[in-house]
Amino acid sequence: MIAITTSVFELFKIGPGPSSSHTIGPMRAGYNFYSSVRELTLSETPDNLEVRLYGSLSATGEGHGTDRAVIAGLLGYLPDTVDCSFLDSLADRSSHKFDSGNISLPISVNNVVFAEVENSFPYANTLLIRLKKGDTIIHEQEYYSIGGGFIKWKGELEEIPCAPKYKYSCMEELKQILTDKEMRLHQLVLENESSVTGLNEDEINIKLDAIIDTMKKAVENGLSAEGVLPGPIGLHRKAKRLYGSSSKPNAADAFLLRLNAYGFAASEENAAGHIVVTAPTSGSAGVIPAVVYALEEDLGISREMVRQGMLVAAALGFIAKHNASIAGAEVGCQGEIGVASAMAAGLVTYANGFRFWRTENAAETALEHHLGLTCDPVGGYVQIPCIERNAMGAVRAYNAYLIASVENEQFHKVTYDEVVKAMADTGRDMDSRYKETSLGGLAVSVPNC
Ligand code: SF4
Repeated sequence: MIAITTSVFELFKIGPGPSSSHTIGPMRAGYNFYSSVRELTLSETPDNLEVRLYGSLSATGEGHGTDRAVIAGLLGYLPDTVDCSFLDSLADRSSHKFDSGNISLPISVNNVVFAEVENSFPYANTLLIRLKKGDTIIHEQEYYSIGGGFIKWKGELEEIPCAPKYKYSCMEELKQILTDKEMRLHQLVLENESSVTGLNEDEINIKLDAIIDTMKKAVENGLSAEGVLPGPIGLHRKAKRLYGSSSKPNAADAFLLRLNAYGFAASEENAAGHIVVTAPTSGSAGVIPAVVYALEEDLGISREMVRQGMLVAAALGFIAKHNASIAGAEVGCQGEIGVASAMAAGLVTYANGFRFWRTENAAETALEHHLGLTCDPVGGYVQIPCIERNAMGAVRAYNAYLIASVENEQFHKVTYDEVVKAMADTGRDMDSRYKETSLGGLAVSVPNC
Protein backbone atom coordinates (compact mmCIF):
# COMPACT_ATOMS: atom_id res chain seq x y z
CA MET A 1 0.00 0.00 0.00
CA ILE A 2 1.38 3.41 -0.96
CA ALA A 3 -0.27 5.92 1.34
CA ILE A 4 -1.91 9.07 -0.02
CA THR A 5 0.24 12.08 0.83
CA THR A 6 -1.45 14.75 -1.31
CA SER A 7 -2.28 17.99 0.47
CA VAL A 8 -5.79 19.49 0.33
CA PHE A 9 -4.18 22.62 -1.14
CA GLU A 10 -2.43 20.71 -3.90
CA LEU A 11 -5.83 19.44 -5.02
CA PHE A 12 -7.65 22.78 -4.58
CA LYS A 13 -5.36 25.31 -6.28
CA ILE A 14 -6.15 28.89 -7.20
CA GLY A 15 -5.13 29.83 -10.74
CA PRO A 16 -6.24 31.04 -14.15
CA GLY A 17 -8.45 28.94 -16.44
CA PRO A 18 -9.25 27.34 -18.73
CA SER A 19 -7.49 23.99 -18.10
CA SER A 20 -5.37 22.88 -15.18
CA SER A 21 -3.36 20.42 -17.24
CA HIS A 22 -2.99 22.91 -20.11
CA THR A 23 -2.65 26.16 -18.16
CA ILE A 24 -1.65 25.68 -14.51
CA GLY A 25 0.61 22.63 -15.08
CA PRO A 26 2.56 24.22 -17.97
CA MET A 27 2.89 27.50 -16.05
CA ARG A 28 4.34 25.61 -13.09
CA ALA A 29 6.68 23.73 -15.47
CA GLY A 30 7.85 27.06 -16.94
CA TYR A 31 8.37 28.47 -13.46
CA ASN A 32 10.29 25.38 -12.38
CA PHE A 33 12.60 25.75 -15.40
CA TYR A 34 13.02 29.48 -14.69
CA SER A 35 14.04 28.74 -11.06
CA SER A 36 16.21 25.70 -11.74
CA VAL A 37 18.27 27.37 -14.49
CA ARG A 38 19.51 29.82 -11.90
CA GLU A 39 21.47 26.99 -10.25
CA LEU A 40 23.05 25.74 -13.48
CA THR A 41 26.56 26.14 -14.78
CA LEU A 42 26.36 25.74 -18.55
CA SER A 43 29.33 24.91 -20.75
CA GLU A 44 28.13 27.36 -23.42
CA THR A 45 25.95 30.44 -23.48
CA PRO A 46 22.57 29.73 -25.13
CA ASP A 47 21.16 32.17 -27.68
CA ASN A 48 17.58 30.88 -27.86
CA LEU A 49 14.96 29.03 -25.88
CA GLU A 50 12.44 26.53 -27.26
CA VAL A 51 9.36 24.96 -25.74
CA ARG A 52 7.90 21.86 -27.42
CA LEU A 53 4.40 20.67 -26.53
CA TYR A 54 3.21 17.07 -27.03
CA GLY A 55 0.01 15.07 -26.59
CA SER A 56 -3.16 17.06 -26.00
CA LEU A 57 -0.97 20.03 -25.01
CA SER A 58 -0.16 20.18 -28.71
CA ALA A 59 -3.58 19.17 -30.04
CA THR A 60 -5.59 21.66 -28.00
CA GLY A 61 -2.92 23.82 -26.37
CA GLU A 62 -3.63 26.88 -28.48
CA GLY A 63 -7.29 26.97 -27.44
CA HIS A 64 -6.33 26.35 -23.83
CA GLY A 65 -3.68 29.12 -23.72
CA THR A 66 -0.84 26.64 -23.03
CA ASP A 67 1.68 28.74 -24.98
CA ARG A 68 0.88 31.86 -22.91
CA ALA A 69 0.89 29.89 -19.65
CA VAL A 70 4.32 28.31 -20.15
CA ILE A 71 5.82 31.63 -21.26
CA ALA A 72 4.37 33.35 -18.17
CA GLY A 73 5.97 30.64 -15.99
CA LEU A 74 9.31 31.15 -17.75
CA LEU A 75 8.98 34.86 -16.94
CA GLY A 76 8.68 34.01 -13.24
CA TYR A 77 4.90 34.11 -12.79
CA LEU A 78 2.98 31.55 -10.73
CA PRO A 79 -0.67 30.54 -11.25
CA ASP A 80 -2.01 31.80 -7.92
CA THR A 81 -0.58 35.31 -8.31
CA VAL A 82 -0.43 35.93 -12.06
CA ASP A 83 -2.49 38.82 -13.40
CA CYS A 84 -4.91 37.40 -15.99
CA SER A 85 -4.68 40.54 -18.13
CA PHE A 86 -0.90 39.99 -18.38
CA LEU A 87 -1.54 36.42 -19.53
CA ASP A 88 -4.00 37.71 -22.15
CA SER A 89 -1.47 40.30 -23.32
CA LEU A 90 1.02 37.56 -24.24
CA ALA A 91 -1.29 36.54 -27.09
CA ASP A 92 -0.10 39.58 -29.09
CA ARG A 93 3.27 37.76 -29.46
CA SER A 94 5.13 40.63 -27.84
CA SER A 95 8.68 39.88 -26.75
CA HIS A 96 9.68 39.63 -23.07
CA LYS A 97 12.90 38.70 -21.34
CA PHE A 98 13.71 35.30 -19.82
CA ASP A 99 16.06 36.34 -17.05
CA SER A 100 17.44 33.60 -14.83
CA GLY A 101 20.90 33.44 -13.31
CA ASN A 102 23.26 34.85 -15.89
CA ILE A 103 21.05 33.88 -18.83
CA SER A 104 18.99 36.57 -20.51
CA LEU A 105 17.04 35.74 -23.66
CA PRO A 106 14.11 37.28 -25.53
CA ILE A 107 11.02 35.03 -25.43
CA SER A 108 7.42 35.16 -26.62
CA VAL A 109 4.75 32.65 -27.58
CA ASN A 110 6.64 32.37 -30.90
CA ASN A 111 9.16 30.21 -28.99
CA VAL A 112 6.48 27.53 -28.42
CA VAL A 113 6.25 24.64 -30.90
CA PHE A 114 3.10 22.53 -31.09
CA ALA A 115 4.79 19.16 -31.74
CA GLU A 116 3.47 15.58 -32.18
CA VAL A 117 0.18 14.61 -30.54
CA GLU A 118 1.04 10.90 -30.50
CA ASN A 119 4.27 10.31 -28.60
CA SER A 120 6.14 7.75 -26.55
CA PHE A 121 6.90 9.85 -23.47
CA PRO A 122 5.83 8.28 -20.14
CA TYR A 123 2.92 10.79 -19.96
CA ALA A 124 1.01 11.97 -23.04
CA ASN A 125 1.02 15.61 -21.97
CA THR A 126 4.74 16.34 -22.15
CA LEU A 127 6.66 19.60 -22.50
CA LEU A 128 10.31 19.89 -23.46
CA ILE A 129 11.95 23.16 -22.51
CA ARG A 130 15.33 23.70 -24.15
CA LEU A 131 18.12 26.23 -24.03
CA LYS A 132 19.88 26.18 -27.39
CA LYS A 133 22.80 27.72 -29.19
CA GLY A 134 21.74 27.81 -32.79
CA ASP A 135 20.31 24.31 -33.32
CA THR A 136 22.47 22.70 -30.61
CA ILE A 137 20.71 21.83 -27.38
CA ILE A 138 22.73 23.15 -24.40
CA HIS A 139 20.24 22.14 -21.70
CA GLU A 140 16.85 20.41 -21.78
CA GLN A 141 14.24 19.50 -19.20
CA GLU A 142 11.33 17.10 -19.84
CA TYR A 143 8.14 17.94 -17.92
CA TYR A 144 4.87 16.05 -17.64
CA SER A 145 1.53 17.73 -16.92
CA ILE A 146 -0.37 14.94 -15.22
CA GLY A 147 -3.74 16.61 -14.58
CA GLY A 148 -5.20 18.97 -12.02
CA GLY A 149 -2.17 21.29 -12.40
CA PHE A 150 0.21 18.63 -11.01
CA ILE A 151 3.55 18.23 -12.78
CA LYS A 152 6.46 15.81 -12.73
CA TRP A 153 9.75 15.96 -14.56
CA LYS A 154 12.35 13.52 -15.81
CA GLY A 155 15.05 12.84 -13.25
CA GLU A 156 13.01 14.44 -10.48
CA LEU A 157 14.40 13.44 -7.13
CA GLU A 158 11.79 11.50 -5.26
CA GLU A 159 10.77 13.88 -2.54
CA ILE A 160 9.96 11.98 0.61
CA PRO A 161 6.79 13.71 1.76
CA CYS A 162 6.04 14.06 5.44
CA ALA A 163 4.11 10.98 6.49
CA PRO A 164 0.40 11.48 7.05
CA LYS A 165 -0.77 10.61 10.54
CA TYR A 166 -3.33 8.13 9.20
CA LYS A 167 -2.15 6.08 6.23
CA TYR A 168 -4.69 4.95 3.63
CA SER A 169 -4.65 4.38 -0.10
CA CYS A 170 -8.33 3.62 -0.78
CA MET A 171 -11.78 4.00 0.72
CA GLU A 172 -11.74 0.56 2.37
CA GLU A 173 -8.60 1.40 4.35
CA LEU A 174 -9.95 4.85 5.18
CA LYS A 175 -13.17 3.40 6.57
CA GLN A 176 -11.24 0.89 8.67
CA ILE A 177 -9.29 3.72 10.31
CA LEU A 178 -12.50 5.69 10.96
CA THR A 179 -14.06 2.63 12.60
CA ASP A 180 -10.97 1.67 14.63
CA LYS A 181 -10.33 5.21 15.86
CA GLU A 182 -14.02 6.12 16.20
CA MET A 183 -13.36 9.40 14.45
CA ARG A 184 -15.12 11.50 11.83
CA LEU A 185 -13.73 11.83 8.34
CA HIS A 186 -13.17 15.59 8.27
CA GLN A 187 -11.15 15.29 11.48
CA LEU A 188 -8.93 12.62 9.92
CA VAL A 189 -8.33 14.74 6.80
CA LEU A 190 -7.56 17.75 9.00
CA GLU A 191 -5.03 15.82 11.10
CA ASN A 192 -3.40 14.34 7.98
CA GLU A 193 -3.18 17.80 6.43
CA SER A 194 -1.44 19.01 9.55
CA SER A 195 1.09 16.21 9.50
CA VAL A 196 1.78 16.55 5.75
CA THR A 197 2.05 20.37 5.61
CA GLY A 198 2.93 21.34 9.18
CA LEU A 199 -0.03 23.76 9.27
CA ASN A 200 -2.15 23.93 12.41
CA GLU A 201 -5.97 23.77 12.39
CA ASP A 202 -6.43 27.55 12.37
CA GLU A 203 -4.02 27.95 9.47
CA ILE A 204 -5.76 25.19 7.52
CA ASN A 205 -9.14 26.85 8.10
CA ILE A 206 -7.80 30.20 6.87
CA LYS A 207 -6.52 28.56 3.69
CA LEU A 208 -9.78 26.65 3.25
CA ASP A 209 -11.74 29.89 3.58
CA ALA A 210 -9.56 31.48 0.90
CA ILE A 211 -10.37 28.55 -1.41
CA ILE A 212 -14.10 28.71 -0.64
CA ASP A 213 -14.17 32.50 -1.07
CA THR A 214 -12.33 32.27 -4.42
CA MET A 215 -14.84 29.66 -5.59
CA LYS A 216 -17.73 31.91 -4.57
CA LYS A 217 -16.10 34.93 -6.20
CA ALA A 218 -15.82 33.01 -9.48
CA VAL A 219 -19.55 32.24 -9.25
CA GLU A 220 -20.41 35.88 -8.49
CA ASN A 221 -18.20 37.22 -11.28
CA GLY A 222 -19.79 34.78 -13.72
CA LEU A 223 -23.33 35.65 -12.62
CA SER A 224 -22.78 39.31 -13.46
CA ALA A 225 -20.89 38.86 -16.74
CA GLU A 226 -22.42 38.91 -20.20
CA GLY A 227 -21.23 38.59 -23.78
CA VAL A 228 -19.24 36.15 -25.82
CA LEU A 229 -16.43 33.95 -24.49
CA PRO A 230 -12.95 34.14 -26.05
CA GLY A 231 -12.19 31.94 -29.05
CA PRO A 232 -13.65 31.19 -32.46
CA ILE A 233 -16.79 29.38 -31.29
CA GLY A 234 -18.58 32.61 -30.39
CA LEU A 235 -20.24 30.98 -27.38
CA HIS A 236 -22.48 33.31 -25.39
CA ARG A 237 -22.42 33.26 -21.62
CA LYS A 238 -25.65 31.92 -20.07
CA ALA A 239 -25.18 32.13 -16.29
CA LYS A 240 -26.71 35.58 -15.80
CA ARG A 241 -29.78 34.68 -17.85
CA LEU A 242 -30.30 31.41 -15.96
CA TYR A 243 -29.99 33.20 -12.63
CA GLY A 244 -32.34 35.96 -13.75
CA SER A 245 -34.94 33.34 -14.68
CA SER A 246 -34.85 31.65 -11.30
CA SER A 247 -37.59 33.67 -9.62
CA LYS A 248 -40.13 30.96 -10.45
CA PRO A 249 -43.14 30.25 -8.28
CA ASN A 250 -42.17 26.57 -8.41
CA ALA A 251 -39.46 26.32 -5.73
CA ALA A 252 -37.90 23.16 -7.19
CA ASP A 253 -37.45 24.75 -10.63
CA ALA A 254 -36.11 27.93 -9.03
CA PHE A 255 -33.48 26.02 -7.04
CA LEU A 256 -32.44 23.94 -10.04
CA LEU A 257 -32.12 27.05 -12.21
CA ARG A 258 -29.93 28.70 -9.59
CA LEU A 259 -27.75 25.60 -9.14
CA ASN A 260 -27.32 25.44 -12.93
CA ALA A 261 -26.55 29.17 -13.03
CA TYR A 262 -23.80 28.77 -10.40
CA GLY A 263 -22.23 25.89 -12.36
CA PHE A 264 -22.34 27.90 -15.60
CA ALA A 265 -21.01 31.02 -13.86
CA ALA A 266 -17.76 29.56 -12.46
CA SER A 267 -17.22 27.48 -15.58
CA GLU A 268 -17.72 30.48 -17.87
CA GLU A 269 -15.17 32.37 -15.78
CA ASN A 270 -12.78 29.47 -16.31
CA ALA A 271 -13.41 29.52 -20.07
CA ALA A 272 -12.65 33.26 -20.03
CA GLY A 273 -9.22 32.49 -18.52
CA HIS A 274 -10.13 34.16 -15.22
CA ILE A 275 -9.23 32.99 -11.72
CA VAL A 276 -10.84 29.74 -10.52
CA VAL A 277 -10.00 26.89 -8.17
CA THR A 278 -9.01 23.47 -9.52
CA ALA A 279 -11.67 21.18 -8.12
CA PRO A 280 -10.15 18.78 -8.98
CA THR A 281 -9.26 20.42 -12.34
CA SER A 282 -9.95 23.76 -14.01
CA GLY A 283 -12.16 22.12 -16.65
CA SER A 284 -14.37 20.94 -13.79
CA ALA A 285 -13.99 24.15 -11.75
CA GLY A 286 -17.72 24.89 -11.77
CA VAL A 287 -19.14 21.77 -10.08
CA ILE A 288 -17.98 22.16 -6.47
CA PRO A 289 -18.32 25.99 -6.44
CA ALA A 290 -21.93 25.56 -7.61
CA VAL A 291 -22.86 23.35 -4.67
CA VAL A 292 -20.78 25.39 -2.21
CA TYR A 293 -22.56 28.58 -3.33
CA ALA A 294 -25.97 26.89 -3.09
CA LEU A 295 -25.20 25.47 0.36
CA GLU A 296 -24.20 28.84 1.82
CA GLU A 297 -26.42 31.25 -0.12
CA ASP A 298 -29.59 29.23 -0.77
CA LEU A 299 -29.66 26.62 1.95
CA GLY A 300 -28.12 28.50 4.89
CA ILE A 301 -25.47 25.88 5.67
CA SER A 302 -22.79 27.29 7.98
CA ARG A 303 -19.21 27.96 6.90
CA GLU A 304 -17.96 25.38 9.42
CA MET A 305 -20.09 22.64 7.84
CA VAL A 306 -18.97 23.69 4.36
CA ARG A 307 -15.33 23.52 5.51
CA GLN A 308 -15.93 19.99 6.80
CA GLY A 309 -17.56 19.06 3.49
CA MET A 310 -14.58 20.45 1.57
CA LEU A 311 -12.18 18.27 3.58
CA VAL A 312 -14.32 15.23 2.81
CA ALA A 313 -14.48 16.19 -0.88
CA ALA A 314 -10.68 16.36 -0.87
CA ALA A 315 -10.43 12.79 0.49
CA LEU A 316 -12.76 11.57 -2.29
CA GLY A 317 -10.61 13.37 -4.87
CA PHE A 318 -7.38 11.96 -3.39
CA ILE A 319 -8.67 8.39 -3.71
CA ALA A 320 -9.74 8.93 -7.35
CA LYS A 321 -6.41 10.53 -8.24
CA HIS A 322 -4.37 7.89 -6.39
CA ASN A 323 -6.15 4.85 -7.86
CA ALA A 324 -7.28 6.13 -11.26
CA SER A 325 -6.78 9.67 -12.58
CA ILE A 326 -8.32 13.13 -12.56
CA ALA A 327 -6.95 14.01 -16.01
CA GLY A 328 -9.17 14.16 -19.10
CA ALA A 329 -6.05 13.31 -21.11
CA GLU A 330 -5.72 10.00 -19.25
CA VAL A 331 -9.27 8.77 -18.55
CA GLY A 332 -11.59 11.18 -20.36
CA CYS A 333 -14.10 13.51 -18.77
CA GLN A 334 -15.22 10.89 -16.22
CA GLY A 335 -11.98 11.81 -14.37
CA GLU A 336 -12.78 15.52 -14.39
CA ILE A 337 -16.54 16.18 -14.24
CA GLY A 338 -17.20 12.66 -12.91
CA VAL A 339 -14.78 13.00 -10.00
CA ALA A 340 -15.85 16.62 -9.37
CA SER A 341 -19.46 15.45 -9.18
CA ALA A 342 -18.53 12.65 -6.76
CA MET A 343 -16.59 15.10 -4.57
CA ALA A 344 -19.50 17.56 -4.68
CA ALA A 345 -22.03 14.85 -3.79
CA GLY A 346 -19.93 13.84 -0.79
CA LEU A 347 -19.51 17.49 0.21
CA VAL A 348 -23.26 18.22 0.14
CA THR A 349 -24.08 15.04 2.06
CA TYR A 350 -21.48 15.59 4.77
CA ALA A 351 -22.22 19.32 5.08
CA ASN A 352 -25.87 18.40 5.64
CA GLY A 353 -24.76 16.47 8.70
CA PHE A 354 -25.05 12.92 7.38
CA ARG A 355 -22.67 10.24 8.58
CA PHE A 356 -19.93 8.82 6.46
CA TRP A 357 -21.61 5.82 4.82
CA ARG A 358 -24.22 8.05 3.19
CA THR A 359 -21.41 10.36 2.05
CA GLU A 360 -19.59 7.48 0.38
CA ASN A 361 -22.80 6.27 -1.26
CA ALA A 362 -23.60 9.72 -2.63
CA ALA A 363 -20.08 10.04 -4.08
CA GLU A 364 -20.23 6.56 -5.56
CA THR A 365 -23.62 7.22 -7.19
CA ALA A 366 -22.44 10.49 -8.71
CA LEU A 367 -19.31 8.94 -10.21
CA GLU A 368 -21.12 5.78 -11.38
CA HIS A 369 -23.32 7.82 -13.69
CA HIS A 370 -20.38 9.57 -15.32
CA LEU A 371 -18.54 6.33 -16.20
CA GLY A 372 -17.41 6.26 -19.82
CA LEU A 373 -17.79 10.02 -20.27
CA THR A 374 -15.39 11.11 -23.01
CA CYS A 375 -13.39 14.32 -23.31
CA ASP A 376 -14.02 15.93 -26.71
CA PRO A 377 -13.83 19.72 -26.38
CA VAL A 378 -15.02 21.41 -29.56
CA GLY A 379 -12.21 23.31 -31.26
CA GLY A 380 -9.95 22.49 -28.31
CA TYR A 381 -11.70 25.10 -26.16
CA VAL A 382 -12.98 24.31 -22.65
CA GLN A 383 -16.46 25.49 -23.61
CA ILE A 384 -18.53 22.83 -25.44
CA PRO A 385 -19.36 20.45 -23.79
CA CYS A 386 -17.45 21.57 -20.70
CA ILE A 387 -19.52 24.50 -19.43
CA GLU A 388 -22.92 22.79 -19.52
CA ARG A 389 -21.26 19.65 -18.22
CA ASN A 390 -20.20 21.49 -15.06
CA ALA A 391 -23.79 22.48 -14.41
CA MET A 392 -24.94 18.92 -15.10
CA GLY A 393 -22.25 17.60 -12.74
CA ALA A 394 -23.51 19.87 -9.97
CA VAL A 395 -27.14 18.84 -10.49
CA ARG A 396 -26.18 15.15 -10.58
CA ALA A 397 -24.20 15.64 -7.37
CA TYR A 398 -27.23 17.12 -5.67
CA ASN A 399 -29.40 14.30 -6.99
CA ALA A 400 -26.92 11.70 -5.73
CA TYR A 401 -27.06 13.37 -2.30
CA LEU A 402 -30.88 13.21 -2.30
CA ILE A 403 -30.85 9.49 -3.16
CA ALA A 404 -28.16 8.67 -0.57
CA SER A 405 -29.91 10.71 2.11
CA VAL A 406 -32.92 8.37 2.16
CA GLU A 407 -31.56 5.00 1.10
CA ASN A 408 -31.06 1.94 3.25
CA GLU A 409 -27.36 1.23 3.81
CA GLN A 410 -27.69 -2.51 3.24
CA PHE A 411 -29.26 -1.98 -0.18
CA HIS A 412 -26.33 -0.04 -1.65
CA LYS A 413 -24.32 -2.51 -3.73
CA VAL A 414 -21.39 -0.59 -5.21
CA THR A 415 -18.49 0.86 -3.20
CA TYR A 416 -16.50 3.99 -4.02
CA ASP A 417 -13.37 1.88 -4.55
CA GLU A 418 -15.23 -0.29 -7.06
CA VAL A 419 -16.49 2.66 -9.10
CA VAL A 420 -13.02 4.28 -9.06
CA LYS A 421 -11.55 1.00 -10.37
CA ALA A 422 -14.22 0.89 -13.10
CA MET A 423 -13.28 4.44 -14.08
CA ALA A 424 -9.58 3.52 -14.28
CA ASP A 425 -10.31 0.42 -16.41
CA THR A 426 -12.69 2.32 -18.70
CA GLY A 427 -10.18 5.12 -19.08
CA ARG A 428 -7.41 2.70 -19.99
CA ASP A 429 -9.60 1.15 -22.71
CA MET A 430 -10.75 4.52 -24.07
CA ASP A 431 -9.42 5.51 -27.49
CA SER A 432 -7.03 8.48 -27.37
CA ARG A 433 -9.41 10.44 -29.66
CA TYR A 434 -11.65 10.83 -26.61
CA LYS A 435 -8.96 11.97 -24.19
CA GLU A 436 -8.65 15.72 -24.62
CA THR A 437 -7.17 15.56 -28.12
CA SER A 438 -10.28 16.99 -29.85
CA LEU A 439 -9.93 14.26 -32.49
CA GLY A 440 -13.27 12.53 -31.83
CA GLY A 441 -16.81 12.90 -30.54
CA LEU A 442 -18.35 16.38 -30.44
CA ALA A 443 -15.04 17.94 -31.49
CA VAL A 444 -15.47 16.21 -34.85
CA SER A 445 -19.26 16.21 -35.26
CA VAL A 446 -19.73 19.91 -34.46
CA PRO A 447 -18.63 21.77 -37.60
CA ASN A 448 -16.96 25.15 -38.12
CA CYS A 449 -15.34 25.58 -34.75
S1 SF4 B 1 -14.74 17.60 -21.89
FE1 SF4 B 1 -14.47 17.37 -19.67
S2 SF4 B 1 -12.38 16.59 -19.40
FE2 SF4 B 1 -12.54 17.44 -21.48
S3 SF4 B 1 -11.81 19.56 -21.30
FE3 SF4 B 1 -14.06 19.57 -21.06
S4 SF4 B 1 -14.39 19.41 -18.84
FE4 SF4 B 1 -12.26 18.81 -19.19
